[in-house]
Amino acid sequence: MLAILYHSLAKDMDSITLSFYRYVRLENPADMRQTLLVAWESLGVLGRVYLAHEGINAQVAVPAVAMDAFRASVDALEPFAKVPFKIAVQHGPSFEKLRIKVRPKLVADGIEDTSFDVTDVGTHLDAQTFNALASQEDVRIVDMRNQYESRIGHFQDAHLPDADTFEQALPMAKALLGEDKDAPVLLYCTGGIRCEKASAYLKHHGYKRVHQLHGGIIQYAHDVREQGLPNLFRGKNFVFDNRLAERISDDVVSHCDQCSAASDDIRNCANDMCHVLFIQCSTCALAYGGACSDACKQFLALPEAERRAAHAGNAHPTARKGIREHTRYQKGA
Ligand SMILES: [Zn+2]
Ligand SMILES: [Zn+2]
Repeated sequence: MLAILYHSLAKDMDSITLSFYRYVRLENPADMRQTLLVAWESLGVLGRVYLAHEGINAQVAVPAVAMDAFRASVDALEPFAKVPFKIAVQHGPSFEKLRIKVRPKLVADGIEDTSFDVTDVGTHLDAQTFNALASQEDVRIVDMRNQYESRIGHFQDAHLPDADTFEQALPMAKALLGEDKDAPVLLYCTGGIRCEKASAYLKHHGYKRVHQLHGGIIQYAHDVREQGLPNLFRGKNFVFDNRLAERISDDVVSHCDQCSAASDDIRNCANDMCHVLFIQCSTCALAYGGACSDACKQFLALPEAERRAAHAGNAHPTARKGIREHTRYQKGA
């Protein structure tokens, strides 16, 4: 028992969690998948990797002793040579195995135009140059994330597209920017990958001065702390793990979906059948038992057998529908 515990502790401490992505033309993603599987499995790499004709997006845990060999294995492949690794400061998700999936696109975008060149991206900015450009009079800042991400935190003066998916966000960003294609545009997202695509999309549509925050909000938050720069981000950064959000500044920029009090406590509805992401202040969390709506609160109060039956039959769609309309309504209000 102790040996198992010790083993898993040692395993955690000795591995490095890192991520990288690159938009690059891959002629045969399925072949590349095989190449990576063979190379990385032999190094004991775990993680989740996506490949597409348009590139790679990887989040992996590499045994510390194999780190040099891993770097060499990546650099040996021409499309990925010298790709920057982003090393996680905290432990990321723990992976059970190495999963490499081939997908039509790295991030679903709805773009079918074959003349679109995803590698023709905007100018990358670091935290310092981002701050300098953001304070310029004619600049337009656009948040390329979904509404449930940008609600709880964003850069001051940023446009926030009311998008539920990245596919929706692209045309919304273009519509927000309008016909003036000469003014500087500043894009940002969580880790930078969506802005690669978004900046190429806007350039494709004639915007001449497109910039994006390199490494996204995650890198920005790190850099302003390390370098003592002014922090222009307000509130929390939405993250894709169990924490859901990371506080970047003390400002609370959003409101409880249920009572409209100032709150940026984002959570999943306690009803697993619903599981919607919403904002709930601590008072409402108590009153609703963590549920997003009366419908979900009532469902949670049902005898366990009834809830299980609903799970098994994947029934109770009304709760889901109810809250989707509910959060929509609140947001518009
Ligand atoms: Zn509330
Ligand atoms: Zn719910």
